[in-house]
Amino acid sequence: MKIGIMGGTFDPIHIGHLLLGEFAYEDFGLDEIWYLPNGNPPHKQESEDEDALKHRVEMVRLAIEGPKHFQLCLHEAKETVHSYTYKTMRELNALYPEHEFYFILGADSLFSIEEWRYFREIFSTCTILAAMRDDKDVEDMEKQISCLESKYGAKICLLRAPLLEISSTTIRERVAEGRSIRYMVPDTVAAYIKEHHLYTVT
Ligand code: ATP
Ligand code: MG
Repeated sequence: MKIGIMGGTFDPIHIGHLLLGEFAYEDFGLDEIWYLPNGNPPHKQESEDEDALKHRVEMVRLAIEGPKHFQLCLHEAKETVHSYTYKTMRELNALYPEHEFYFILGADSLFSIEEWRYFREIFSTCTILAAMRDDKDVEDMEKQISCLESKYGAKICLLRAPLLEISSTTIRERVAEGRSIRYMVPDTVAAYIKEHHLYTVT
């Protein structure tokens, strides 16, 4: 099967992440999208308590519980140690040799990928589907794609999804300020955030 991997911190998951999965699914004829919450991403905070990881995973679970083609992948979420994309993709390829993997990411990740640990290895394990994000235009994206393709032999396609000026950071800030996040996250996720008093202090 063709599997799209949608990795992220998902702190919390928002409709930008969901739209990326849905557009990748449809436009690239993928069979399933696996949402992969990062354990303890090296580029984010140094460590987080297990509750925070549990909350991030639960919110992903709630957000994707409808469509059958969206699945939760707990491959990284078990670890409270750092997780690395190259390692995860290598392991997923070994575990599922019958599948072909597509790694979905937003523009900010495409522009920082050369700072990721052993990033060259990632290119040999999957095709990258890169979506625009508000701060980049299509020419910048195409330039970065052809640069990575010629330097490293990466396979990268532009993923055309609606441009949404939404980030988890904005959502955390809005919650802390007592502002609405309705329609930015699924209702079930908003209810979960409220019930568990998440993001009330920044
Ligand atoms: P934070 O503000 O905490 O960094 P985020 O919204 O960027 O959160 P992440 O979990 O860091 O969410 O992102 C996971 C992946 O989703 C990344 O590849 C990121 O580029 C992509 N992404 C997130 N939001 C969007 C968006 N609105 N449009 C396009 N891509 C996005
Ligand atoms: Mg981010």
